[in-house]
Amino acid sequence: MAIVLFKNALLVTMNPGREVLRSDLLVRDDRIVEINRAGQSKFIEKINRTIDASRWLILPGFIQTHIHLCQTLFRNQAEDLTLLDWLRRRIWPFEAAHDAASMRASARLGIAELLAGGTTTILDMGSVHHYDVVFDELEKWGLRAVGGKCMIDTGDGVPPGLLEKTANSLQESQQLYKNWHGAANGRLRYAFAPRFSLSCTESLLREVGTMAHDLGCMIHTHAAETAAEEEILLQEKKYRSIDFFREMGIAGSHCCFAHGVQVNAREIATLAQDRTGITHCPGSNAKLASGIAPILKMRQAGVRLGLGADGAACNNRLDIFAEMRLAGLLQKLQHGATALSAQTIVEMATIDGARCLNWDDEIGSLEAGKKADLVAINLDAPHAYPLHRENIYAQIVYAVKSSDVCLTMIDGRICYENGEIGNMDVKATLAAAEMEWKKLLHRAPIKG
Ligand SMILES: [Zn+2]
Repeated sequence: MAIVLFKNALLVTMNPGREVLRSDLLVRDDRIVEINRAGQSKFIEKINRTIDASRWLILPGFIQTHIHLCQTLFRNQAEDLTLLDWLRRRIWPFEAAHDAASMRASARLGIAELLAGGTTTILDMGSVHHYDVVFDELEKWGLRAVGGKCMIDTGDGVPPGLLEKTANSLQESQQLYKNWHGAANGRLRYAFAPRFSLSCTESLLREVGTMAHDLGCMIHTHAAETAAEEEILLQEKKYRSIDFFREMGIAGSHCCFAHGVQVNAREIATLAQDRTGITHCPGSNAKLASGIAPILKMRQAGVRLGLGADGAACNNRLDIFAEMRLAGLLQKLQHGATALSAQTIVEMATIDGARCLNWDDEIGSLEAGKKADLVAINLDAPHAYPLHRENIYAQIVYAVKSSDVCLTMIDGRICYENGEIGNMDVKATLAAAEMEWKKLLHRAPIKG
C-alpha cells in the first residue's frame, strides 16, 4: 500500500463548487482519500512519502479526448497540406508502413510527451494494425486511455496496407476489446474507432453502432472536420456527417467525435440533444486550415466538449497548454474579448473531457474518493508571476507552459517527476524514434 501526502498545495479542484483551496491532499493506492487543511487530517495510517507542495499548483490531470499515438513518429513530416491531401499523400502511406517496432517507438514517444506535459488521460485513435502494441505501451508507462484500432473498409486513396475487409475490421476490434477493455486496474478501455465517414462502409458503421451498444464501449471518429469532407459526403450519401453517423446508429453519450468544425445550428442542437461529445482540436484545425469550430455556440447549446491536440503529424505537439491557449485566443478573435472564459477552457481540459468519456465518476476533478490522477505545476518562474488566486484560470490557460509541469500522477502512480518518466530511458526512446522513423520512411509507399 502506497500512501502519499501532498502538503500545503494550491488545489484547483474542478469539483462541483469549482473550489480553489490551499490544502493537503492525501493519496492511498489509486485514490484520493482526503483533502483537508493542514492539521485537520483524521488520517492515522503511516504515510510513505510526504511531498512539500507549497510552491505548486495541483490540478486534476489533463484529459485529451483526441490523440493519435500512432502518428507521433510523423512529426514535421506532412507540412503545408489540407486534410485530404495530408491523409492521402502522407499520413495513410506512413501508417501503412508501420510495423510493430515503429508503432512501439511512436506510441512511447507520444506517451513520454503527454506525461511530461501533464496529460493523464487520452482518447486515442490508432492505425489499422498493431493496436495491441499501443495498449501494451499504455499499460507499461501508466497513462489512462480509451483507445482503439482505426477501421477503414473503403475510400479513395487508401493504400492496400490499410484497407480492411469489413468482417476482419469488426473481428479484430472485438478481439482487442476482449484483450484490453478494463485492463491495468481498469485504466484502459476500448473504443471502436471508424476513421471517418468517407473511409467506412455503411454496413461497417451500422455494425459498430450495434456492437458498441451491446459491449457498452465508446465510439470515437472524426466528424465535420472540413468543408471538402462534408461536400463529398453530401454528394455520395445525401447526408452531412453528423446526420450520417446518426443514421448509422452512431450518436449518443457513448460517442465522441473529433473536430466538429463544420457543424451548423441544427446539428449543434442535435449533438446537444443526443449528448454526443465533440473534441475541439484548435491547433490541428488551424494548421490544416480546416477552420475554427463554433465552440462558443456548442457550449451555449450544452454540447459536451473536450480538448485534444490530435496527432503530432498535424499539430505538431501533444501539448494541452498550447491547445487551451489557442482555444481561447481563436474564440476571442471571432467573438470578442469576453468570449470563452479561461475557467471554461480548463473545464474542457479536465471535468468536461471526463464527461465526454463517461468517466467523470472517477476522474476530471480532485475529490476524495476519485482516482488519484493529478498534475503538479511549479510556479517558480518569471512567466508565472505575479500569482493571484482570483485569476488562477487565466494563469493556467495563458501564462503557464507545459514545461512547468513537475509531477504527473495517474491511478496513484507517479508517472512523471522532474524529467524522469518512470524507469524509461528517455535518450533511448528518442534514439529509437529516430531510427524507426528512418526505417519506416524507407518502407512507405510515398508518391510525392
Ligand atoms: Zn485525428
